[in-house]
Amino acid sequence: MKLDVYGKPGDFGASGEYENAIVDGVLSQCPFCGGIDIEVVNTHTPHYTVICADCGAKKPCAIGSGKHFKSRGACIRAHGQSFRSAITEWNTRA
Ligand SMILES: [Zn+2]
Repeated sequence: MKLDVYGKPGDFGASGEYENAIVDGVLSQCPFCGGIDIEVVNTHTPHYTVICADCGAKKPCAIGSGKHFKSRGACIRAHGQSFRSAITEWNTRA
């Protein structure tokens, strides 16, 4: 997982990406179309959604918020938690 943090104190944002998540066994392939072009996306806040680029199926994280953070460390922790949550939700969806 690659997490890019940007911004300044009081207004940190971040975005995450996972390359080769399917190959590494981190993300399951799409349960609807079998697609393997799966992306983990967010806006500037720690709220991540896994999306299938082939059919548009999506599953949001269970842990996430629209918060901004005062410290870089808190920002990284929240984004990491939400990022992993989105992946867990995607892999365990019914
Ligand atoms: Zn799909």
